Amino acid sequence: DLRVRFCPSPTGTPHVGMVRTALFNWAQARHSHGSLVFRIEDTDAARDSEESYEQILDAMRWLGLDWDEGVEVGGPYAPYRQSERGDIYRDVAGKLLEAGYAYESYSTAEEIEARNLAAGRPKAFGYDGFDRDLTQEQKAAFKAEGRKPALRIRMPDEDLAFDDLIRGRIEFKAGSVPDYVIVRPNGDPLYTLTNPTDDALMRINVVLRGEDLLSSTPRQLVLYRYLTELGIAEGTPLFGHMPYVMGQGKKKLSKRDPESNLFLHREHGFIREGLLNYLALLGWSIAPDRDVFSMDELVEHFDIRDVKANPAHFDIDKATAINAEHIRMLDSQDFLNRSLPYLKRDGVISADSWDALTERERTVLTAAAPLVQPRVRLLGEVSGMVGSLLRQEGYIEPAPDARKQLKDSAGQVLELAVRALTPVAEADWSAEHLHELLTKALVDEAGYKPGLAFGPVRVAVSGRRVSPPLFESLEIIGKDTTLRRLNNLRQ
Ligand code: GLU
Repeated sequence: DLRVRFCPSPTGTPHVGMVRTALFNWAQARHSHGSLVFRIEDTDAARDSEESYEQILDAMRWLGLDWDEGVEVGGPYAPYRQSERGDIYRDVAGKLLEAGYAYESYSTAEEIEARNLAAGRPKAFGYDGFDRDLTQEQKAAFKAEGRKPALRIRMPDEDLAFDDLIRGRIEFKAGSVPDYVIVRPNGDPLYTLTNPTDDALMRINVVLRGEDLLSSTPRQLVLYRYLTELGIAEGTPLFGHMPYVMGQGKKKLSKRDPESNLFLHREHGFIREGLLNYLALLGWSIAPDRDVFSMDELVEHFDIRDVKANPAHFDIDKATAINAEHIRMLDSQDFLNRSLPYLKRDGVISADSWDALTERERTVLTAAAPLVQPRVRLLGEVSGMVGSLLRQEGYIEPAPDARKQLKDSAGQVLELAVRALTPVAEADWSAEHLHELLTKALVDEAGYKPGLAFGPVRVAVSGRRVSPPLFESLEIIGKDTTLRRLNNLRQ
């Protein structure tokens, strides 16, 4: 059975690359009816934070990426936070040391550098293997100086290779990877030890992660071999390294780029379906020339082996367009419910839930939904569209670009509109009837072009240059408020 994992380090706020990694692991697990393990790699007390952990949980829940074992839900290999697994790492490190797969290393960074310089080796050469075969006397002498050893893994002198699920055969020449540290002199275990150890103990058989981790794979291949010898691992997992996500220009999208910030996308009004759909396209596609699909379709068709190795480009315009498609597909009440937090945030409503809205607010929103839903790309745009429909003020201050659009004829147009609409009975106040009346009065009789005729009416009732369809808006706003807004802009 397939066992994959998502194992972020809780440093900073969730970013696009992290979410794509979670998504591809989730999709593969669901596609293969396997298990997704959610582990937290918090062994770096200086950089990890509880706040970041909470944010990652929030992200996973909001996105609907559920996991079968791991933090919060538990499972057979608990605990799933590495900060709670110190004893396990000490035990495994002790076994590696005892078997000679790891050794004590007393060299400081300065000493390593000085030796490389003296031997004419490039600075990037790294660790030279100096402590590999220290005698008991040499070790005792270092200890007597008050030194504490790091633990290093003994790399074999041989070529290493594996078949990447995305990139095919990848080879590392013998001697290209120096012996590496798994435990610091102060006893802290490092990612180099904790990540493969937990993958082994948790029986992960497929590791799907970003290309940035490719350089740690040869080290891990060797460690898996040793852990298997020791009976801790059951062989080596398969690996698939996902392509980099590029931002603008030829640069990698950095965690610090605003475009990379998941919560910023949520604030702007991405819905989970739209965002996940777009993120899935960063390396994968469902079919040529097809960009929009549901999560069910993703699960049905996803196969990590179809992911492309070349870098993917994050394109916010395309992401937004895809989000618009998914907003359109929502059931109308679902669309409204999901818009509520944005309406509340923007001060358009004050209630937190549909049931807590006033009767009138519910009526207006229900009538507005079919007008607004096809016209927004992000839920953050809903407030601007429905604000003027919900509000009952008799005057709406036009936005600067809307005011600029008003021509000298605006006053005259508004006066004619008021005259045409005043006699309409409440019962006849329908979009269709208003459309007829205003067309007759402003276009047919007064001779204004439709833009000049309806522009000022739109600005008067909505304050905006672009709004939901005008006559439907007038119907929702009602006769009294419409007339007050027309009159007030006229003055
Ligand atoms: N904790 C590591 C990271 O966040 C996970 C690396 C891996 O997937 O092996 O980068």
